[in-house]
Amino acid sequence: MATIATRFRCVNGPSIRPSSHVLFNSSPALRRSLATTQSDSSAAQPPKRRPTYFKDGENSIPSFSEFVGLRDDTPLSQADALELRTAMVGPPGKQKQITRLPEWLKTPIPDNSNYKKIKKDLRGLNLHTVCEEARCPNISDCWGGSDKSAATATIMLMGDTCTRGCRFCSVKTSKAPPPLDPHEPEHTAEALSRWGLGYVVLTSVDRDDLVDGGAHHFAETIMKIKSKRKEMLVEALTGDYAGDLEMVALVARSGLDVYAHNMETVEVLTPNVRDRRAKYRQSLKVLDAAKKAKPGLITKTSIMLGLGETEEQLLQTLKGIFVSHIPI
Ligand code: SF4
Repeated sequence: MATIATRFRCVNGPSIRPSSHVLFNSSPALRRSLATTQSDSSAAQPPKRRPTYFKDGENSIPSFSEFVGLRDDTPLSQADALELRTAMVGPPGKQKQITRLPEWLKTPIPDNSNYKKIKKDLRGLNLHTVCEEARCPNISDCWGGSDKSAATATIMLMGDTCTRGCRFCSVKTSKAPPPLDPHEPEHTAEALSRWGLGYVVLTSVDRDDLVDGGAHHFAETIMKIKSKRKEMLVEALTGDYAGDLEMVALVARSGLDVYAHNMETVEVLTPNVRDRRAKYRQSLKVLDAAKKAKPGLITKTSIMLGLGETEEQLLQTLKGIFVSHIPI
């Protein structure tokens, strides 16, 4: 996860606990345009984006006021910015107090045609995205690109309910999610070909309730996309299929361009971070099996930083991943 100065960066997988972008701060002084409220001043002007800072550039660190400044450039004192804000939520008699994240950490709901078109197509075809299900704060960047080639969304196959319960993830969980939608492969391919994107990422919830973990459904979706738009590059971010490497190979050979499976964290933290069925060594085997299933295939993984891992543990993990490719 990137620092806050560059804002959170999604790893294209169901991830990241709820951000604040759907929350509503009831303080009139801090109120600005969100899905849940409209202020007169924001109705006329689109929200101003914060500048991006690069570590190796000049002026690499924003000033405090730039960093926490509201989009209408309202100055904010340090005390105001860091003040803990709370609100009472729930029906009368059952209300409980929750803590609000600060206003400057929130992301606006995008208001442009790409965002609206993607959302409309998704609902019309009954498709899900990890962007929405994981409540990713980058949705305005990914969906709100100024043209089609800049906009992207990560489709989440096999429903919006996962059979696992990783501790960092916001996706709904259940032991028995609804059955797969047999039309989903076709609908997904249709939506993606309509959007005219050059590169798409498909991911899925884990479906331990299915004999094949949903591998055939995933592979069918990729094949349909490729048959509609051969030139579209497809990245598939898959689960571990409960260690069934034949299912990994089946997806790897389905015509995709990049096979991704996330390690998520270092070995020692895995039991605390991921679902107990998601094992560190099993994930290493998944990446290895994908590579072996189709020589030359690009494989990819992601690791969240800042969970308490040490540099040494991180290096060990990188070594585990790359040991056969890059000597460390
Ligand atoms: S396996 Fe399920 S709970 Fe774990 S990160 Fe993926 S979607 Fe979330």
